Amino acid sequence: MAAATVSVERAASGARNSAALDFLRKPKQLLIGGKWVAAKSGKTFETINPSNEEVLALIAEGDKADVDLAVKAARKAFDEGQWSKIGPHERARYLFKIAELIDKHADELAQLETLDNGKPLTFSSAFDIPAAAETFRYYGGWVTKIYGETNPSDPSFFNYTLREPVGVCGQIIPWNFPLLMAAWKLGPALACGNTVILKPAEQTPLTALRLGELIMEAGVPEGVLNIITGFGPGAGSSIAEHPDIDKVAFTGSTEVGKIILKASAGNLKKVSLELGGKAPNIIFPDADLDQAVPTAMMGVFFNSGQVCCAGTRIFVQREKYGEVVDKLAKFSKNVTMGDPFDQKSTIGPLVSKEQFDRVKGYLEVGKKEGATVSAGGEAGAGKGYFVNPTLFSDVKNEMRIAREEIFGPVGTAISFTDENDAVFQGNNTEYGLSAAVWTRDISRAHKVARSLKAGTVWVNCYNQLDPISPFGGYKQSGFGRELGRYAIDLYTQIKSVWMKL
Ligand code: NAP
Ligand code: MG
Repeated sequence: MAAATVSVERAASGARNSAALDFLRKPKQLLIGGKWVAAKSGKTFETINPSNEEVLALIAEGDKADVDLAVKAARKAFDEGQWSKIGPHERARYLFKIAELIDKHADELAQLETLDNGKPLTFSSAFDIPAAAETFRYYGGWVTKIYGETNPSDPSFFNYTLREPVGVCGQIIPWNFPLLMAAWKLGPALACGNTVILKPAEQTPLTALRLGELIMEAGVPEGVLNIITGFGPGAGSSIAEHPDIDKVAFTGSTEVGKIILKASAGNLKKVSLELGGKAPNIIFPDADLDQAVPTAMMGVFFNSGQVCCAGTRIFVQREKYGEVVDKLAKFSKNVTMGDPFDQKSTIGPLVSKEQFDRVKGYLEVGKKEGATVSAGGEAGAGKGYFVNPTLFSDVKNEMRIAREEIFGPVGTAISFTDENDAVFQGNNTEYGLSAAVWTRDISRAHKVARSLKAGTVWVNCYNQLDPISPFGGYKQSGFGRELGRYAIDLYTQIKSVWMKL
């Protein structure tokens, strides 16, 4: 329901960037066929600043009628070929231009991201926004390198393959890295010549909308990118079900991933899913603890723990368990939580009231299950969705806090007996997105990296993410690989051409 008044001054009190404030004051509409328009229904919804619970802006609430129009626009743009059939150098230049515009407006985008999501400005400035620009730049480089093959056919024939765009793509993204997730989706889709309907998460639509303006400013033809803000059931489900969308790419919960997969069956859309995780973060006794403790713990707390690859199950070998848990707890107690515009803050609030209640619920579950609270364990007092950095120890891998994705700043320390046990417990989860190993023994590092069932394994580091390397899940963490050259596979299809000589 729309609020009677929105006070940008009150809601965005920490922000200092005048362009960000000006953007907040403008209407937030849908992008369809190159035009910014209200939702057909006229409805809007609120986006909230999670630091102070004030309404930042009213956003157009798109639903099926709007998705239908966006799909028509995307189909027309695709079929007319002013994107899919232009020369690769030209299309590459558009992607480079988008990257340049993100860099040019980096401070504005970082402040909008911090206002909408609650992540500290130091992180949105140093990570989210530059990484989004790099992603467009990286895929700009790919446009001129999307090759087909000539195949060793019988000499009386000539056989070659063409890599062609898939067509109209629906892309549904979450709220934890709003601009970066838009870049991971749009970069490769646009590079390969597809047209897109993007649905940002209802909690964090602002930077995707600003990115839409920048993409139009870059001169990308109308209809190539369409943005439908709105809710999962309504906007998101209409995309997943739409008979004229060729591919759907989704990042979010495993639960919704399954709904998307079912909905895609109607017209057999190509589907890629990047879902949840419950990553093992295995610290062997020979690890360099000065490096392992802070980096592994930040692998839990980064972005207030709202990270699909967060290393929330910290495994420590039994003989060192007490010593290492003391160090992990000491580090956790020193993590500064607070106003995301304050440079001293390492973590800000959770994104929403819903997420806050969910994470608070898990704090109670952990206590009831008999885990020991070694740090934190409480929600912050006062306004904003703050939860203290928390470490549970004496956790068993069977407990709910070790099995279910909490998506908050909550780590669980679990003991193991030996390498086999560490790998067994580490893999004993329905997820398989990422994992980490801490050891100075290189042979063990490689062996364990091979044994872990996860799409990414970090050795003596955490959260190394870069468009050069693929990202995606084993098991119920999804399928398909984003980033790297693998995303080119997601957004192209192969045609085999036979010619009689
Ligand atoms: P979610 O519902 O999976 O949201 C992800 C995206 O899917 C959003 O854009 C959402 O729209 C959309 N969506 C929701 N229901 C849909 C439907 N029936 N059809 C099509 N699209 C739909 O995630 P959430 O509810 O925000 O968070 C719940 C939990 O999911 C978190 O606690 C966390 O465990 C997990 N999660 C994982 C990731 C990840 O990166 N893997 C990201 C976010 C959340 P609206 O939000 O606009 O309704
Ligand atoms: Mg918000």
